[in-house]
Amino acid sequence: MDFGFSKEQEMIRKEMRHFCKKELTKDYIQWMDENVDFPPAELWDKFADLGFFSATVPREYGGDGISMVDAMVMFEEICKASMSVALAIGTTTGFGTRTIAELGTKAQKETYLPKLAQGKLKMCMALTEPGGGTDILGAMTTTAVEKEGRWIINGEKVFITAAHVSDFMVTICRTETDAKPPESLSVFLVPSRSPGITITRIPKISCHHCDSVGITFADVEVPAENLLGHRGSGWYEMLATLNPERIGCALMGVGLMAAAYEDAFAYAKERQAFGGPIARFQILQHYLADMYIHLENARNLTYKSAWLCDQGRPYHLEATMAKLVASEGALFAGRFGAEIMGGYGICSEYPMQRYLRDAYQLQFSPISNEMSKNMLMQFQGLPKSWA
Ligand SMILES: Cc1cc2nc3c(=O)[nH]c(=O)nc-3n(C[C@H](O)[C@H](O)[C@H](O)COP(=O)(O)OP(=O)(O)OC[C@H]3O[C@@H](n4cnc5c(N)ncnc54)[C@H](O)[C@@H]3O)c2cc1C
Repeated sequence: MDFGFSKEQEMIRKEMRHFCKKELTKDYIQWMDENVDFPPAELWDKFADLGFFSATVPREYGGDGISMVDAMVMFEEICKASMSVALAIGTTTGFGTRTIAELGTKAQKETYLPKLAQGKLKMCMALTEPGGGTDILGAMTTTAVEKEGRWIINGEKVFITAAHVSDFMVTICRTETDAKPPESLSVFLVPSRSPGITITRIPKISCHHCDSVGITFADVEVPAENLLGHRGSGWYEMLATLNPERIGCALMGVGLMAAAYEDAFAYAKERQAFGGPIARFQILQHYLADMYIHLENARNLTYKSAWLCDQGRPYHLEATMAKLVASEGALFAGRFGAEIMGGYGICSEYPMQRYLRDAYQLQFSPISNEMSKNMLMQFQGLPKSWA
């Protein structure tokens, strides 16, 4: 058994730490959080130059084809610096690159993957609908109907991260009217500037520099060749994207926890009360101890999930637990990190309030913690409790 990272992985981490220290300073993150709904193009280009977008693209399509563990090592420092930035770039690699690499035909891979590797395309995933994200099969009303060699899409999606800046939306629609719900969905690569698409902002407390928006599709025409995967198999085929997404989101919680812990630890050593640093008070040490334990647990589960994924072994259970433990730990870290900082914990001047706000988003996205627990016990063989 070996819990260590390889020399190469440590080098990736070192390089990313250096990059984040230079390009994702706390001042710049605060500026983005107060001024933009997506990171500026110049930052995107720096990630492209760094090789972030090519890292997970298969070698035969112009990428480096790195493993899931390597990709997570690369991602961790970004998650620590800013969950918004992690989401902004992660939607393209997680939903665009991965979905096309998993489901795409040779022609689709040749068309899109080299451009994705160069950072020339932005993508998002439009799955959730206003009727409900947890019961997505029951709630989905967006349809795609085949007509004269094209697909016509009508419907509505909600909370779609980065759709307002994307070039393509990986969009899940109902195509089969007579089939059972899990066999009725198909996946499409929809050009975001297609006539009939309207995007609406959704103001929210979390991840200010990576918006999630509403989308309406009114008779949006998509060429037949933009079907991804097999007609009617979208529900099962999307699992190849949705399970890795849980690992990526777990790492966002890990990064957020690490940042909150570090800031709270440093603050506690500096801040004086009753003739000495507040770090000497046992109750504050216990807050920090709990943050540290949550961080270690979540990090171990997250990397174990990534490792299992690389081994080609089942990892849905571990990825679900990792997302749950990391999101709960992140909320705890934001909550008690702010407690340690007293009034300053909720002041805009300090990032702690951002960690706390961003942590809320992880509680139900991409899957709610309640549903995660339902599924965990179902995986363990208990009767399905949730429908
Ligand atoms: C900021 C943000 C970004 C997002 N980004 C994306 C994106 O890029 N693409 C995308 O497709 N979606 C995205 N989502 C959607 C996200 O996946 C959903 O919000 C999530 O699945 C929950 O759906 P819901 O919000 O409709 O809540 P609901 O499904 O309405 O759930 C409400 C509550 O009921 C509980 N609940 C429901 N069913 C059960 C049950 N059987 N047992 C116990 N409890 C239950 C839930 O746990 C929750 O507490 C995003 C959401 C947010 C807020």
